[in-house]
Amino acid sequence: MTGRILPPRVSEGAFHEFVTVAQNVVGKDHVYLDLKWELPSYNDEYATLPKELHQASAAVAPANVGEVQSIVRAAGQYGVPLWPISTGKNFAYGGPAPRVAGTVVLDLKRMNRIIEVNEKHAYAVVEPGVSYLDMYRHLQKVGSKLWIDPAAPGWGGMLGNLVDHGAGYTPYGDHLLMQCGMEVVLADGTITQTAMGGLPGSRTTHLYKYGLGPWADGLFTQSNFGVVTRIGIWLMPEPPGYTPFMITYGREDDLHEITERVRPLKLNNVIPNAATTVEMLWEAAVQKQRRDYYPGKGPLPEAARKKIREDLHIGVWNFYGAVYGPPAIMENNLDLIRDSLGSIPGAKIYFDKDRKGDIAWKYRKELMSGIPNMTEYNQMNWIPAGGHMDFSPISPVTGEDAMRQYSLIRDRVNRAGFDYVGEMLVGWRDMHHIFALLYDLQDEEEKRRAHRLFGELIDAAAAEGYGEYRTHLDFMDKIAGTYNWNNAAQLKHRHRLKDSLDPIGILGPGKMGIWPKQMRKEES
Ligand code: ADP
Repeated sequence: MTGRILPPRVSEGAFHEFVTVAQNVVGKDHVYLDLKWELPSYNDEYATLPKELHQASAAVAPANVGEVQSIVRAAGQYGVPLWPISTGKNFAYGGPAPRVAGTVVLDLKRMNRIIEVNEKHAYAVVEPGVSYLDMYRHLQKVGSKLWIDPAAPGWGGMLGNLVDHGAGYTPYGDHLLMQCGMEVVLADGTITQTAMGGLPGSRTTHLYKYGLGPWADGLFTQSNFGVVTRIGIWLMPEPPGYTPFMITYGREDDLHEITERVRPLKLNNVIPNAATTVEMLWEAAVQKQRRDYYPGKGPLPEAARKKIREDLHIGVWNFYGAVYGPPAIMENNLDLIRDSLGSIPGAKIYFDKDRKGDIAWKYRKELMSGIPNMTEYNQMNWIPAGGHMDFSPISPVTGEDAMRQYSLIRDRVNRAGFDYVGEMLVGWRDMHHIFALLYDLQDEEEKRRAHRLFGELIDAAAAEGYGEYRTHLDFMDKIAGTYNWNNAAQLKHRHRLKDSLDPIGILGPGKMGIWPKQMRKEES
């Protein structure tokens, strides 16, 4: 057993017994134990700290919900913690790796059935292993007139992304909002259905989200209260027309005015999809290599940035949005957009015909119409051996907040020797600000610096009243610790739920700062 990190408080004997039971349940081929050939695929490839901190002791891949129940029960019997993953592509936030070293990964990739596509009511029901690419191909094959809302990149899972509160770029971009009906295996092995699904023979499980009584679905997202084994998800009917557009802006300060003008366009649904303001280096990183512009380390000098803008025909800020519907509606809304966003001095508006051959335009155009792709992953080639972690504070949709968050991050990032690579997505009332911290995985000092910087960003954002919506394994406790109003009443409430739903503490220890009792620091 040399090299294997056992789960905390689990003896070698108990671990072996659990493994034997798991092998009997799912078959030997689906319990992964090999430290050299199998388990490394459950590492966080982009870790800034030693990978051993999040190294799984084993992975178990059940084929159906009955097997999930049996594995969860065995885990309870032997006290073995489980970390459920769906397709395990949550890179930037820890990928497939568990929070606590030695945890067994419960890999749900084999549960990859598309259970239903309902064309009439525009929804699908999927298991955890169904990726956006799988679903897209399926819809194409059956000639469906429904769109999915893929995350960028599209190899991620529909369920895994949703339970981690992921977002996309069509009008259905708020994935949790579009979720309806959920099947969950609880820590004692019970299966439950949320909302309308609680009614035997229910005809509306995937049509009405809330059922009767407390809406529980949210409890099983970004949490460790259950293993989600199936979800319903609303799909967007293909609209009669689609016109994506891009507007470039030349000055850093334009972010203020762009954001002010986006707010009413979003509030009034003139732009129905995730309106996204993208900084120039995000655009560059998906299609170029940094060393083509600047050989050194440290933030890119202005001369190099200028050359990038010229080469790629982009601005400092690049706004992407789309209009959907019959031509008359699209034309009407485009006029409003031209009058508003298009009239900021220096703005240049582009449509599909203007950006032939532009890689960044192409993948945005695809994402905003539900076509999954992998282009954004090119960012990992911006620097050699590139790794990334995303810092994702939520902002109000105002020019002042956008500029404050941008300066707060950019200044610290540049001081620490990194580039600001970011985008801001406006949803219904908020703006998701995503800063991709890119670093060289082969440079230990740079990784340490990136890690330190991330912590500083969390503190600086919290001091200004901004919290993050999602995070990497290493920062779950720290960020959960910033949501500490009224003596951390929120976290204490979650811990009460944890103790009641999972008293042995086997599911996802540490997920989003929620710990089982025996691993918890004293709470006052
Ligand atoms: P994706 O399928 O998009 O690649 P992951 O499988 O990486 O997403 O999952 C993202 C995160 O969501 C995981 O770290 C895990 O904590 C949580 N998660 C994934 N699948 C489930 C599930 N079926 N039940 C509960 N939590 C899950």
